[in-house]
Amino acid sequence: EQLANQIAAGEVVERPASVVKELVENAVDAGSTAIDIAVEEGGISLIRVTDNGSGIDPDDLETAFQRHATSKIASGSDLFRIASLGFRGEALPSIAAVSRVECVSASDDSGLGRRLAMNGGTVVASEPVNAPRGTDITVRDLFYNTPARLKYMKSIQTELGHLSDYVNRIALAHPGIAFTLRHNGNLLLRTTGGGDRLQVIAAIYGTNTAKAMLKVSAEHPDYDLNGYISKPELTRANRNGLTVIVNGRTIRSYIVNQAVIQAYHTLLPINRYPLAVLEIGMHPSLIDVNVHPSKMEVRFSKEAELREFVEHAVRDALSGIRH
Ligand code: ADP
Ligand code: MG
Repeated sequence: EQLANQIAAGEVVERPASVVKELVENAVDAGSTAIDIAVEEGGISLIRVTDNGSGIDPDDLETAFQRHATSKIASGSDLFRIASLGFRGEALPSIAAVSRVECVSASDDSGLGRRLAMNGGTVVASEPVNAPRGTDITVRDLFYNTPARLKYMKSIQTELGHLSDYVNRIALAHPGIAFTLRHNGNLLLRTTGGGDRLQVIAAIYGTNTAKAMLKVSAEHPDYDLNGYISKPELTRANRNGLTVIVNGRTIRSYIVNQAVIQAYHTLLPINRYPLAVLEIGMHPSLIDVNVHPSKMEVRFSKEAELREFVEHAVRDALSGIRH
């Protein structure tokens, strides 16, 4: 069982950013309106995610850390979940197998919750505690018991870069949730949760950048799109400024990225990229289920059509400032 969890951990937990992704997605799924993330040393020594969501019933807390203990039923409307069936209910046990985890959770406002502590997946404490509704998970010493994996950790700056890149994307996808991200006590990101995506853009990229964004919005029988793109003078040396959200989830899509870049075609110098935050809605049947959710890569069944739609929408938004 422990070995199975360590093997599963290899699939789910690649680096600190993957732990943050799994914990924050659980917090989002739990209906939280505020999610606080604190990490130390790029997340390698500590990752703490605190939410005010539905919490875990004290009687279910230990079970939640056992394999396939998902409370989430895959519905036909959520193909991402069906696609990730292999991973359902594996995140918490996988994380626990390769770290020291402490979880405090309460599922009502009685003030009573439960605390569970585990080392390498072995329970070392389980007791009732006073706790507000919500969940507070701390993951310490990631990969402390799997030295081979620990060796693959990059520098603190690299791990922090992956991690904060992910938090930026999830904050952009959920402007209605108030996020904070702290590294070694320093505040790196704070969003208000007021629902305004432009405010999140300002929090991440700065107020001047937010002011220089153009609104994009388009409709199509198969898709709808809305979001913001930067004026051509706001360019970056890499594609990290392209955030794509499909049906509420942040994804990576070569097709969508190419469509955006193509729309700027003659407007950008070579090897410069725009900023863009695009939320695309589509019927789940148009998402190829043959994806690797933990890597956020998604493919679409009508790639050419989607590409043309996105390119057209971005061109339209840019056309207002062309002359
Ligand atoms: P999955 O998310 O695929 O169901 P996880 O291993 O990530 O599997 O979580 C297991 C279960 O623990 C979830 O189904 C959920 O019931 C519960 N859970 C985990 N994190 C939270 C949270 N932050 N708030 C409420 N419930 C949670
Ligand atoms: Mg999960």
